Amino acid sequence: MPSDRAGGCPSAAATGHSLLDVMGLSGHYGPVRAIHQIDLRVGAGELVAIVGGNGAGKTTLLHTLSGLHPAHAGQIRFDGRDITRWLPHRIVAAGICQVLEGRQVFAPLSVEDNLRLGGYRQHRDRGWLREERERVYTLFPILAERRRQLAGTLSGGQQQMLAIGRALLGRPRLLLLDEPSMGLAPLLVEEIFRVIVELNQRGVTILLVEQNARAALAIAGRGYILETGRIAKTAPAAELLADDDVRRAYLGY
Ligand code: ATP
Repeated sequence: MPSDRAGGCPSAAATGHSLLDVMGLSGHYGPVRAIHQIDLRVGAGELVAIVGGNGAGKTTLLHTLSGLHPAHAGQIRFDGRDITRWLPHRIVAAGICQVLEGRQVFAPLSVEDNLRLGGYRQHRDRGWLREERERVYTLFPILAERRRQLAGTLSGGQQQMLAIGRALLGRPRLLLLDEPSMGLAPLLVEEIFRVIVELNQRGVTILLVEQNARAALAIAGRGYILETGRIAKTAPAAELLADDDVRRAYLGY
């Protein structure tokens, strides 16, 4: 099977149809310019990585796509519709689900209840919800073992799995992942990234932002380098991994 992934994984079912189109997007916090004139495209079925260091603007970009932070200029189009000024609940209903940085599970609730909450929009479709929960448990067997455990007592890696699983219950057409590797041991990073690839192979379009450039570009088809709020470079992930500037700045060799 031909591969367009840097890490040689089979390609997702990318169709070429544009799911997300971002044009000239800017956002700030008072006088602090966080993202500036961002152009970005994610095709249906793609796994795209945005890598950048501390404070590069990764979280602000995802928050702006989700409607959690206002766009001050530019346009966001999702599946052909202009969603730039939509409120977050409407954006979620359209199919964009964000897994926030730092896991953000409901600590006093069980694993199972966290997943139930992820599916609140589909609460009438009980059969689907049950099936989808079981699918999450198949993806992350440790969550099945701990389905009655309080989420706040899970390890960091398990909480990250739960946060991703909860987003899947929202039936995402585009999954936004904010630094899923943050604070995790290398083996857990591998596990989480294995699942991200699997989700993409099942047809979920994924936009992943990461400081861990090496791991993110190893699984992505294409990548963007974000520097002080601007897109500094974009290319197929394999090219970015081989780029001398990128290697020096982000890969440490
Ligand atoms: P990190 O990897 O450290 O989370 P990031 O790439 O996600 O960084 P952002 O959190 O989007 O970057 O921050 C982009 C810029 O906006 C930084 O200069 C940051 O200090 C600033 N910033 C972020 N949040 C706020 C805020 N609530 N108020 C003021 N400035 C902010």
